[in-house]
Amino acid sequence: MSETPDKWETATRLVRGGLARSEHGEVAEALFLTQSFVYDSAEGAEARFKGEEPGFIYARYGSPTVRMFEERLALLEGAQACRSTASGMAAVHLAMTGLLRAGDHVVAGRALFGSCAWILNTWGPRFGIEATLVDATDLEAWRAALRPNTKVFFLESPANPLLEICDIAAISAIAKDAGARVVVDNVFATPIFQSPLKLGADVVVYSATKHIDGQGRVLGGALLGDQTLVDESYRDFIRHTGPALSPFNAWLLLKGLETLDLRVRRQTDTAGKLADLIADHPKVVECRYPFRRDHPQHEIAARQMSGGGTLIALDLGSQEAAFRFLDALEIFDISNNLGDAKSMATHPCTTTHRALSEAQQRQIGLTRGWVRLSLGLEGQSDLARDISRALDAA
Ligand SMILES: *Cc1c(COP(=O)(O)O)cnc(C)c1O
Repeated sequence: MSETPDKWETATRLVRGGLARSEHGEVAEALFLTQSFVYDSAEGAEARFKGEEPGFIYARYGSPTVRMFEERLALLEGAQACRSTASGMAAVHLAMTGLLRAGDHVVAGRALFGSCAWILNTWGPRFGIEATLVDATDLEAWRAALRPNTKVFFLESPANPLLEICDIAAISAIAKDAGARVVVDNVFATPIFQSPLKLGADVVVYSATKHIDGQGRVLGGALLGDQTLVDESYRDFIRHTGPALSPFNAWLLLKGLETLDLRVRRQTDTAGKLADLIADHPKVVECRYPFRRDHPQHEIAARQMSGGGTLIALDLGSQEAAFRFLDALEIFDISNNLGDAKSMATHPCTTTHRALSEAQQRQIGLTRGWVRLSLGLEGQSDLARDISRALDAA
């Protein structure tokens, strides 16, 4: 064979990457529903357990369909190694705690997904791990938060829900100087538009529940990085604590990857056009989209992302106006999911971010008029009409 998959274009990686056909020569990736595996001989079992012979042992450690998903995602990301998990939060938890022990310190961007904030503020301290939350756009704040025991920087860019962008390369350089590792939650950017490992991050995490499934069906997660780091920091942790992705979910996510590039590009094209329409409407106080010039960190977005992404945030000035807008939408669903084929709208203050106090919401710039939109695959003119009508009603 002269083809080398890591030289393939993204679209080819997504359709062909990691494909491991059985002796039956099936076209579609096979779904292997099996908890464990059998050996030809007692000696063979021993060799496999000793790691002297390749092959699967038990599905908590790995299994063929799950492996295909991990290989395909690693190829897409350009990472040496990928391990999948049952949800995005399992991947975030694993990614951070695999690098930490009692007495260590984490610095994280303040605009965090609610469950990530809970891990850092509530769960970590039970095990002697402290965290400092900073304004992720302020490089000096990352530097100032460093302590001699800082081991991990955790960040999300674009961040939920207001699409704040931080400079991954600059923050990674600060971490490297201090001997800390950088974990990036890359869900909003997607692997199509942003490659944190190439910008200097050590670990990338995904909620595969979002764009990778993209069709509202299953939960899943993954973390990616260098082989040595993944083996040393995560392999045994995964084996012995069991966050394994189910083979059925892995199979759906594999099929999701086949169309990821197409879907994300189409959804992004729609988001870019609708962001301009929204920004021009008189009822809109502010419209935030990473690839619009008026985004506060547009210059960084243009440098580190190759597309603006599938999400828009808009401020309608008050909760009343935001609710009138949401209730007037006829095609968009009111839902907190994102990255889906179906367009969705959510009011972060009263749903996804209600666990934050008013003061914490204000610290990340989240006031009651903000709405987050996730653009789907419906026709652009239908979505434009739905938005225009709802803005008129707002
Ligand atoms: C949804 C999400 C998660 C958590 O993923 P689950 O699959 O729901 O566990 C983590 N980070 C971001 C940015 C998300 O959007």
